[in-house]
Order: sequence, then structure tokens, then C-alpha cells
Amino acid sequence: MPAPPRRRRSAPLAAVAAAALLTASLAACGQEAKGGSRYKAEKGKGGTVGLAMPTKSSERWIADGRNMARQFKSAGYKADLQFGDDKVENQVAQIENMIAKGHRLLVVAAIDGSALTDVLRRAKEADIPVISYDRLLLGTENVDYYASFDNERVGELQGGYIVDKLKLDEKKDEEFDVELFAGSPDDNNTKFFWDGAMKVLRPYIEKGQVKVRSGQTKMNQTTTLRWDGGTAQKRMDDLLSKNYGSEDIDAVLSPYDGISIGILSALKSAGYGSKDKPFPVVTGQDAELASVKSIIRDQQTQTVYKDTRKLAKQAVQMGDAVLTGKKPEVNDTKTYDNGKKVVPSYLLKPVSIDKSNTQRLVDDGYYKAGELK
Ligand code: BGC
Repeated sequence: MPAPPRRRRSAPLAAVAAAALLTASLAACGQEAKGGSRYKAEKGKGGTVGLAMPTKSSERWIADGRNMARQFKSAGYKADLQFGDDKVENQVAQIENMIAKGHRLLVVAAIDGSALTDVLRRAKEADIPVISYDRLLLGTENVDYYASFDNERVGELQGGYIVDKLKLDEKKDEEFDVELFAGSPDDNNTKFFWDGAMKVLRPYIEKGQVKVRSGQTKMNQTTTLRWDGGTAQKRMDDLLSKNYGSEDIDAVLSPYDGISIGILSALKSAGYGSKDKPFPVVTGQDAELASVKSIIRDQQTQTVYKDTRKLAKQAVQMGDAVLTGKKPEVNDTKTYDNGKKVVPSYLLKPVSIDKSNTQRLVDDGYYKAGELK
């Protein structure tokens, strides 16, 4: 029997098929394809992830960036880690660069949550998914997921600590002097921290058991641009000299360890820190090493520990899921409305730390026992 005639593909068709195959296999093994947008749309491991962190002036962001870079690498990606030095224009330029280089995913902890709408539109046009890291990206559709802590709970832990430490519920007939500090007005977390703390403190202020001598009880009177410790120190100097004279202050609500350090410097200059004139209760956030040591030495009183290793892990899992075509895990789909959409979120739990439980940080491996000496 004669062999059936072999069907031959025409040469141009074969070339097209071969090219398609090559594109697919390039994507599959994760090599960078020039121009990238088609490649970026392909699902799978490989390629580069852009990590835009706000600043190196606080340990936490250095650790967040380092942890994410390491974990993305072990998940099969390259990482391009950039810090914006707390300058919005730096962060915009860094993200533009990441888009131009064809990175497959952006993880952004914004300096100013509302300042990135233009550059995020460009990310969208280039098909690059965006994860908002710790601080919500505001006023944009172009953010896919949010990984953070329960930020309102952070504030509740700070405000609640003041209530407990001053024993406001036992000493109902005594009055206490407290001053209030909020974080940076351009960070969405600031309002959550403030609302959480004031939910707890406001009733005591309203019944007059807690006095705020400065009268500054609104968030916009108490914010600290870019979370700057020096700015907080100046405000605290001012509050003490104008409102306290020889009277002692009992507590200061501080939203962040760097701000607490500024507040403590002002208190030291005003003569606090001795047996006769002990420091007031000063709260904080991030369990930064210097502040944990300060707590051990009876200077700062409390901080809120947020395990940044866990946050990094969550963001990496989200990113990996998005890039490999899976659905990232979320545990909150209601709270974080950025003005354009409610961003599906994964929120971790913060933990209050004072002198009585710094060991928790050692047990968790967050610090070595020797570092806390
Ligand atoms: C973070 C805090 C941090 C603060 C200052 C906030 O957005 O949630 O953990 O203390 O920024 O860096």
C-alpha cells in the first residue's frame, strides 16, 4: 500500500508556531523577554519583582525589604529592592524604573499613599500587578492586594496601655495629664492608629479624668510629618514649656518608636528621668531595638511588636500566588477602602510589649538575648 501523502505545514506557519513555542518556553522558564508585556501576562515563576520601601531611617523597613527579597528569591524570583529616602519623588522614579525594566510585580510601601496614582496607572497599562505593603495605596484602582497588620488594633493597644498603666478604672477620682501624638498625615495607617487609641482614651477625656492641657485632641493638631523624631521632639518641647511648668505629665500617646525617642529627649531636657521625676508612660510601635532597650531601662514604657518577618512572608505568598495564577489568601475584604475600591487584605495581629514581656521577642527569635543587654 502506498504511504499516505504527508501533510506539510507551509514554511511561514511553521515559523509562527516555532516563535510562539519559544515565547511560551521563555516564559515558562522565567527568562526576561525584551519589552516584556506579553511575557508579564504569562503565569509562572521567574522574572523580577520590584520592592519599593519608603526609607532606611527605621530598622523595620530595612528588615521588611531584606526579608521580602530573600523570600522572593527562594520562591524562584529575582528581587529589585529600593528605598525612597522618605522623598516622594525618589519613590516615583524608582517605581517608574521598575516598570521600564519589565518587572513582573510591584510591592509598594508608600511614602505618601496618595502620591502614586499616576505611576500606578502606568503599572496597570504594563499589566504589572501591585501589592500594597503595610501602608494602603490610596485613590487608585490599580492596587490588587494589601498585606498589613490590624492597624486599628495597634492604636487600641497603645491607648489601652495608658488606661491600664495609669489605672484609670481604679483611680476614678484622680485626674491625669496626657498629651497625644499622631503619625504622618500622608500615611493611611495614621488614622487607624489614632482612631484605635482614641476609641479607648476619648471616654476618659470626655469625663475629665484625662486632661490634655494643650487642648490638642484632634488628629490634625497632633500629626508628625514623615514620622520624624526631631519634629516630635520640638512639639514635645513646646507642649511642656507652654502647658506644664512645674507640673508633671503622666502619659504620652506615641504611635511609633522613632517618635517616642524624640518625645523622651524632650522629657529628658525638661528634667524627667530621675527617681523624683520619673518618665511618664510613653507608648510606641515597631519594637525597634533601641526602644526595646529603652523599655528595659525604664525610659520608654511600651511598644507594639509587629513581626515584620511574617508580614514579608504574607506579601511574598500573595505575590507568588498572583504570578502563578492562584488566588492569594485574604482575611479581610471590608476594612480597607482606598477611595476607589475596597482592597482585599491580609491583616496580621500586633502584640503589646512592655518590660514584663520583652522575652517574647527573644522566644520568637526576633532579637537575640544578647542584643537586648
Ligand atoms: C507603619 C508603622 C511604622 C510607621 C513609621 C507605619 O505605616 O505601619 O509600623 O511605625 O509607618 O515608619
